[in-house]
Amino acid sequence: MTRTLLPALLLAAATPALAQQSIATLPPPVLADPKAAALRDDALENDHYAWDITEGLTTEVGQRLAATGAEARARDWGVRRLKAMGFANVRVEPFTMPVWTRGAESAEIVSPFPQKLAIAALGYSGSTGPAGVTGEIIYFDSVDALRAAPDSAVRGKIVFIDHHMMPSQDGSDYGQFGAPRRQGPTVASKKGAIGIVIRSIGTDHHRNPHTGVQYFTDGATPIPAGALAIPDAEQLVRVLKRGRPVVMHLTLVSQKTEGGQSGNVIAEVPGRDPRAPILLVGGHLDSWDQGTGAIDDASGVAIVTAAAKHIMDAGRPQRTIRVVWFGAEEPGGLGGKAYAEAHGKEPHAIAAESDFGADRIWRFSSQLSKTDPASYAQLAASLAPLGITKNDKGEADGTDVEPTIAAGAPWISLGQDGSRYFDVHHTPDDTLDKIDPAQLRQNVAAWTTMLALLSGGIEPGAKQPKRR
Ligand SMILES: [Zn+2]
Repeated sequence: MTRTLLPALLLAAATPALAQQSIATLPPPVLADPKAAALRDDALENDHYAWDITEGLTTEVGQRLAATGAEARARDWGVRRLKAMGFANVRVEPFTMPVWTRGAESAEIVSPFPQKLAIAALGYSGSTGPAGVTGEIIYFDSVDALRAAPDSAVRGKIVFIDHHMMPSQDGSDYGQFGAPRRQGPTVASKKGAIGIVIRSIGTDHHRNPHTGVQYFTDGATPIPAGALAIPDAEQLVRVLKRGRPVVMHLTLVSQKTEGGQSGNVIAEVPGRDPRAPILLVGGHLDSWDQGTGAIDDASGVAIVTAAAKHIMDAGRPQRTIRVVWFGAEEPGGLGGKAYAEAHGKEPHAIAAESDFGADRIWRFSSQLSKTDPASYAQLAASLAPLGITKNDKGEADGTDVEPTIAAGAPWISLGQDGSRYFDVHHTPDDTLDKIDPAQLRQNVAAWTTMLALLSGGIEPGAKQPKRR
C-alpha cells in the first residue's frame, strides 16, 4: 500500500454508504483489449457505413411494409449493397405470409362538438368499408377496466382506451402500456363493440398517431381498430368529461390478403474456422408504412452491418459473423421465426439484435455474465470508455433473435437510450433527420467492440476493398 492511497481508504471506511471496497479485496484488474479498443475508437471517429446504409435505404426505398412490393425492393437493395461491401454468401431466404395494407382512415366526433381527430389503423385492423361506422364512445383507462365491464355496456359502441405511458431510458413502459393496443381490440370485439380507438402508444405530443400490430385472438371477429394521436386522445377525454354522450364516425378501410412473400436477407463475414459457433447479429428490414422506418429499423440493420464490415476491414475473424436483415418483424416477428426454423439448430456463439433506434448505447447485459465471466468482464472493460455500463440483471431482447435464443443461442443485449424513441416510433415522423450521426457512430463502435472481442481473434487477411 502506498502512502497516497491511505487518505482514500480512510475516507472509504468513513463512508460505508458509498459501499467502497478495499483495494485489497477488489477482483484482479481487467483492461480493455487493445485490438478491440483500436477498432472501437476508429469506428467512433470515422464510421460512415451505418449512415450510408440508413440514408440509402430510407431514401432509395423509403417505407418497407412487410410482404409488399416495397419490402421486396428493400431486399433487392440490401443484396446489392451487401455484395458491394464485400460480404460473402449474400442471399435471400423467402417465406410466405398474409399481407395487410392500410386504406382510407378518419375519425370524427359527430356530437356533441363535431370535429375531426387524427387516427391511424392498427395492423390487422378490421375494415369499416368506405361508408364507415357510427357509434357512441365508451371510455376505459386500461384494458383491465374494459375487461371488467359488462358486455351489455360495451355492445354496439366504439371503445376508447386511454393510458398514461411516460418516456423511460430502457423503454420498459412499452410492455405494460402497450396492452391497449395488443389486447384491447380482441377484448372489445368479444364484448360486441363495433370498433375501438386507443390513445397512441407513444410519448410525444404531436398529431401523429402511432400504429403497431395487434392480433384478434381467441376467435374474436376482426373489428376496426385505430390509434388516435396523443393530443387527439386528450381532446376526446376533455369532450367526454363534459358528461354528454359522445358519438364518433369512424372510417378505417384496410385489406388483408393471403399469399404474400417476405424474406430474410443474409450475409456473412466467413470465419477461419467453419466449425466454430457463429456470431449472429441483425436488425429488421421491414418497417411500418407512414414514415421511412429510419429509427425502426434501418438504423438497426445499418449498425450491425457497419460493425461486421469493420471486422472484415481488419482481417479474418476466427468465427463467422452472420448478418441478418430480418423481414416482417413488425407484423409479429415472422422473419425471426423463419430464421430459427432454418438455422436455430446450428451452433451460435451469440445472438444479438439492434432494434431500439439509433441513440447511444448506455448499458449492456449478457448471458455471458454467467457462462463466460472472463469475456463478460472484458466486454465491460472495453465498452466502458464509450460510457456503457454493465447490467448484471438484464434479460435477452430483440424480437427477431428471440426464437434463436429460445433454441439455445447465448444472448447479448446492447441497450440503446430509449428516452425519445417512443416520440416517433411507428409514426410518420420516423425519418432520417431523427438520427444523430455521432450517436449512430457510438452504436457502431459498441457493436464493433463486441464482435472483435467475441470473434475468436482477427488475423490480417487480404485487404478488403473499402467500398460503401
Ligand atoms: Zn423495430
